[in-house]
Amino acid sequence: MRLEGKNALITGAAQGIGKSVALEMAKEGANVAIADLNIESAQETALEVSASGVKSIAIKLDVSKQDDVRAAFGAFTGELGALDILVNNAGITRDTILLRMKEEDWDAVLNINLKGAFLCSKEAIKIMARQRSGKIISISSVVAFMGNPGQANYSASKAGLIGLTKTIAKEYAGRGIRANAVAPGFIRTAMTDILNDEVKNEMKKAIPLGQFGTPEDVANAIIFLASKEGDYITGQVIHVNGGMYM
Ligand code: NAP
Repeated sequence: MRLEGKNALITGAAQGIGKSVALEMAKEGANVAIADLNIESAQETALEVSASGVKSIAIKLDVSKQDDVRAAFGAFTGELGALDILVNNAGITRDTILLRMKEEDWDAVLNINLKGAFLCSKEAIKIMARQRSGKIISISSVVAFMGNPGQANYSASKAGLIGLTKTIAKEYAGRGIRANAVAPGFIRTAMTDILNDEVKNEMKKAIPLGQFGTPEDVANAIIFLASKEGDYITGQVIHVNGGMYM
């Protein structure tokens, strides 16, 4: 029980990596808020998570809207009190090569993936600074480090998260707040299911361990950072990619 009694808010946690993080954190004893666009699926996930015997609540949240974010953090503290862990997980893709990329494709991805993490981190830091403790973990990506054809918007947003993470780590270390990022490689979720087999086979060839990752692989790294074992780590990136980038 590495997270016993801790309270966590995970954005985009109704499915995929975020859901897996929620389930694994609950097994470690944390109370978890499932904050997602789709309140019905967030409620279903919260019900599943609470089977571990912890408190789990669903919160409707669009991370790209400041008013939504403020309301969500208000609802969180109203229900659970302290905020020990924020996972900035909500993310989208709008893939196409740069010359075909529309301004709205760029804005949508940057607004959710990067601005969303800024808005959520800001609300979290207000609470965590008063507590003089807290952990912020943002989900970046291997493409932040490698680039990827068709993902100028996504790669830029995920690289931006690294700068945001390191800056938060420096600005708020004195308040007991740790900020880190996890950079997954190719993980089997709805986000990657949409890619065709040809693309998937090419990607597999680029992974030394020869297989795609699972949401649990990412959750394990997040739980390590969130737990006491990760207390002396801040401003870092943990790569979970089967050796795809090293
Ligand atoms: P996913 O299955 O598509 O889940 C993303 C979740 O975020 C969905 O529940 C989605 O809700 C929610 N979401 C989207 N926009 C939102 C918003 N504006 N506000 C709140 N929630 C929102 O994706 P995933 O594969 O689990 O990815 C999770 C994170 O890991 C993302 O940041 C992604 O970029 C990152 N990542 C994934 C991989 C991979 O290979 N899968 C690799 C590297 C990094 P709806 O379904 O209702 O839209």
